[in-house]
Amino acid sequence: MSLEEKWILSQHPCFNSAVERWFDRYPLAVAAGCNIRCHYCSRVYDCMNDNLPGRVSKTLSPREAFKKLHNAQRQSERIRVVCFNGPGEPLANKETLDTLERVHNHFPQLIKCVSTNGLLLEDYAEKLYAAGVRAVTVTVNAVDPALGRKIYGWVFYNNQPYQGISAAELLLNKQLAGIREARKRGILIKVNTVLIPGLNEEHLKQVAVVVKQAGAYTMKVIPFIPQAELAQLPATSGKMLHQVKRELSTIIRQTI
Ligand code: SF4
Repeated sequence: MSLEEKWILSQHPCFNSAVERWFDRYPLAVAAGCNIRCHYCSRVYDCMNDNLPGRVSKTLSPREAFKKLHNAQRQSERIRVVCFNGPGEPLANKETLDTLERVHNHFPQLIKCVSTNGLLLEDYAEKLYAAGVRAVTVTVNAVDPALGRKIYGWVFYNNQPYQGISAAELLLNKQLAGIREARKRGILIKVNTVLIPGLNEEHLKQVAVVVKQAGAYTMKVIPFIPQAELAQLPATSGKMLHQVKRELSTIIRQTI
């Protein structure tokens, strides 16, 4: 592990929960649109993949976001990480890179972190690295396209719509290629996986093995909240969540 990676682990609460009591993340909501359709997403709330349930953020312009961070920085010495995690998909909105570049120029000491569905991570890995991003969260819910097609409705890539198995296959290939590309540059990777009872609870071990092989450092299992097209499925119980996390911890480090 490089010195830079060790430094990130000593400051970033998403990668090391032990530092949560000292350091804060600061979210900047500049990304409105999304390039995929998760069946559990209503788009009434922020991206479900890396936000508190029911959170609704007002989308800010890059200028507003920078100003907000600037003021917050003056008031708190605890801010160590700037997160780009919604309300849509950060990499599908050019405002993300505009803001990142501005933030990196003025606050090179802050860790820049992006959460993504992974579709554009391979294409953007170099630009993200150049803009100071050293930590990325990728949401991977399935590593089998036959299952993935039940979780994702469509994918929009390179001005082309994809549906069904070809959408799930494309998304999975792009997620894994993106994780590898980011790792090549020394970017730390956390994988989020939504535990959807009745769909992927038996599949999470496979997800853990595959993302670890691709280079993920840690994994966070997120409880499923029934809504949108998957409203008929049950919510993840605390017991199931605990049990799955315990099983997965033998494969890859688990984040709370
Ligand atoms: Fe919704 Fe996030 Fe999925 Fe996009 S990636 S559809 S914003 S949950």
